Amino acid sequence: MSATASELAAALRAGTVTSAELCEQALAAAEGASDLGIFITLDPAGARAAAAQADAEIAAGQDRGPLHGIPIALKDNLCTEGLRTTCASRLLRDWIAPYDATVVQRLRDAGAVAIGKTNMDEFAMGSSNENSAFGPVRNPRDPSRVPGGSSGGSAAAVAAGIVPLALGSDTGGSVRQPAALCGVVGLKPSWGRVSRYGLVAFGSSLDQVGPIANDVAGAAALLQAIAGPDPLDSTCSGEPAGDYSAGLGGDAPLRVGLPREYVDELSTEARAALDAGLAALGDIEVVDVSLPHTSFAIATYYVLASAEASTNLSRFDGVRYGARIEPGGEGLDGMYTATRSDGFGAEVQRRILLGTFALSSGYYDAYYGKAQTAREAIRGDFVAAFADVDVLVGLTAPTTAFPLGSKTADPVQMYLSDIFTIPASLAGLPAISVPVGTDGDGLPWGLHLIGPELAEARVLSAAARVERGLA
Ligand code: GLN
Repeated sequence: MSATASELAAALRAGTVTSAELCEQALAAAEGASDLGIFITLDPAGARAAAAQADAEIAAGQDRGPLHGIPIALKDNLCTEGLRTTCASRLLRDWIAPYDATVVQRLRDAGAVAIGKTNMDEFAMGSSNENSAFGPVRNPRDPSRVPGGSSGGSAAAVAAGIVPLALGSDTGGSVRQPAALCGVVGLKPSWGRVSRYGLVAFGSSLDQVGPIANDVAGAAALLQAIAGPDPLDSTCSGEPAGDYSAGLGGDAPLRVGLPREYVDELSTEARAALDAGLAALGDIEVVDVSLPHTSFAIATYYVLASAEASTNLSRFDGVRYGARIEPGGEGLDGMYTATRSDGFGAEVQRRILLGTFALSSGYYDAYYGKAQTAREAIRGDFVAAFADVDVLVGLTAPTTAFPLGSKTADPVQMYLSDIFTIPASLAGLPAISVPVGTDGDGLPWGLHLIGPELAEARVLSAAARVERGLA
């Protein structure tokens, strides 16, 4: 379905379509696109029950708001009671969570119809969706290319027109970069804006759940449903959620910062996409700004995120969590080794090794300590920049979608895909990717808009201007 969530919501209320029909369309589209590897698990029974309930409620005049009766897809690192949550890992291939993540519960309360769990890079580590134990996801725009990662299945589900909305998670770019490569909208909220209760942890000082949608208004409505304080997550901000839809039509003059570190090395074609985005923003003043510590961001991120991953993933030991492998006769350590060697893929093992090393005695100050210092400097760059501008603008990724297999042999090349998304993650800031035209091969570019902490409404409003300006 190419209709937006708000168009579908209007049709549901007008009685021109039912949630059951939308649900069948989404399930059929998912089956029809099975070659793209988008879903790990579909939930036809659960989806049909939710759709039937939504239809009954709407017919009875009960209105749960803009997501009522709308089909949605969930990244497979969000816990769903009764439906497996694999994190695209062999280790969790049969794991069924005993509870729903807070965001999943809130979507159920909002009447959304979850049709299934989307493919991803294993434990959200990757930028191409090629690190999945269930096989790669292919980009619906060109199946020979990656959809980006790690929320590649969620972005592809929206880009393929299976659902208008999906949830992803973003640690260093995993909502925004796949949204950019698939030509859809993806928002990473401020750290703490959305509950992580029931999101399987990767890098806890960075992880956020974020909306992916086929238009900005859909992303705003989805954020509205999931944002706000949660007594089950002590790291969730106590600030009440803002009103994310109210300002979407705004066009007041805007001061836009263009960080020179984000534009200096853009290709001519990339620069043209960025310029098209600036033009689409309308009434703006472009200010040249500098974020001088940008060059440290990738190294900082891969030390901190890997360090946090190495501790977060220690729970997958074959005792409390994970499919146990018993080699026989080698005792407890042998069981741990066999379970983790069999269960984790190569990239996850690489991160665990890197992170364990960075935290080890004798190296802690040299790596983890230094990375913390660099992170503070990067955060400081943003604080200084936002003293003068309303939003910062760049591209979401340095390239459009690349061919499958083209970066798998070189982890550093893969890590560079996140060069523009990682700084805002380290600073905990809200940032959105909105489509801004295509390259010569018809592959989408994403414009990246970053705002100050908790300014989700502002980045959504700026993204809506771009969407309108290009329409
Ligand atoms: N691509 C980055 C990584 O591999 C970011 C992943 C994410 O945001 N989950 O860590």
